[in-house]
Amino acid sequence: MTVRTRADLSSLPGYVPGRSIPGAIKLASNEVSAGPLPSVVRAIADAATAVNRYPDTAATDLVARLGDKLGVPNEQIAVGCGSVTLCQQLIQSTCTEADEVVFPWRSFEAYPILTSVVGAAGSRVPLTAGHGLDLDAMADALTERTRLVFVCNPNNPTGTALRTEEIERFIDRVPEDVLVVIDEAYKEFVDDPHVPDGVELAKTQWARGRDNVAVLRTFSKAYGLAGLRVGYAVASPAVAETLRKVYVPFSVNALAQAAAIASLDAEDELLVRCRAIVAERGRVRSELIAAGYEVPVSQANFVWLPLGARTDAFNEHCLAHKVVVRAFSGDGARVTIGEVDENDAFLAAAKAFSG
Ligand SMILES: *Cc1c(COP(=O)(O)O)cnc(C)c1O
Repeated sequence: MTVRTRADLSSLPGYVPGRSIPGAIKLASNEVSAGPLPSVVRAIADAATAVNRYPDTAATDLVARLGDKLGVPNEQIAVGCGSVTLCQQLIQSTCTEADEVVFPWRSFEAYPILTSVVGAAGSRVPLTAGHGLDLDAMADALTERTRLVFVCNPNNPTGTALRTEEIERFIDRVPEDVLVVIDEAYKEFVDDPHVPDGVELAKTQWARGRDNVAVLRTFSKAYGLAGLRVGYAVASPAVAETLRKVYVPFSVNALAQAAAIASLDAEDELLVRCRAIVAERGRVRSELIAAGYEVPVSQANFVWLPLGARTDAFNEHCLAHKVVVRAFSGDGARVTIGEVDENDAFLAAAKAFSG
């Protein structure tokens, strides 16, 4: 006898992480290339001396720091083992098998996978011709069964960002019992003043009695802690409480909590790094456009090359030049902005591509 596992999981593709190839430059996972700050490494080392104890499952100190920083009550913050886990917790909090999650496509790889893992139905709404989220089409796609809608801003992998009025108009079209989740994994790389701070936008919605807006943030990208796994959601008290109910106990470990607090202490220094990445993003985009590529304006730490059928050839070409990008076959390639020399290596490869 073979163990009977869920039949619906057999058709589910696994999450494909960015490739790591020894000796190659990795621009495939939207990580920050610079290593952790010495102060953060010290905090991790200090916390390591106490790993015989369970972590604080409520992440009390971290939540209090975030509450102060964001100006929201602690009860409205829920931490998770990376914000990808919070995506799953949000779906678990809102959906059963009868329900549906609406999300843009192409967008974050994890949305369809986590939706299927929970057992809900996923509804993919194609991007606009300009590679941005089509909020009108997303509003049209909502059905009686829809319980949650993801708004990835800026969007992974295209880098496009929505403006305040666009998101507000969208929220007005969403029924009040459907949760709108603004995923801000790349918020710290935004330099367009018309792109909202999701938490501030959510506060104005909560103030008008709209409790159905939540925001996701992560320490993996701008704060450079991808390897430690910690993110957070800011939501109405009721939604934050359900997130804590479906939280796997102790899943944000003690080193991650200490490193996140140390990163908030060193926030100014880390945000200076983000500004440098933003400057490089502009340079890389201009050089790619000069070389004949289409590159949508990006508000994240990566650029998107909508190469369509040429994507696989571009990917192989970059690999031959020892640069690992993230290719989505038939669609395009996402390239993380790294250090200047890494970006130069990528640009040299891109300029030599004739596919
Ligand atoms: C990277 C990313 C995340 C989550 O990252 P974690 O490492 O799990 O915190 C969430 N959403 C988007 C859109 C991302 O690109």
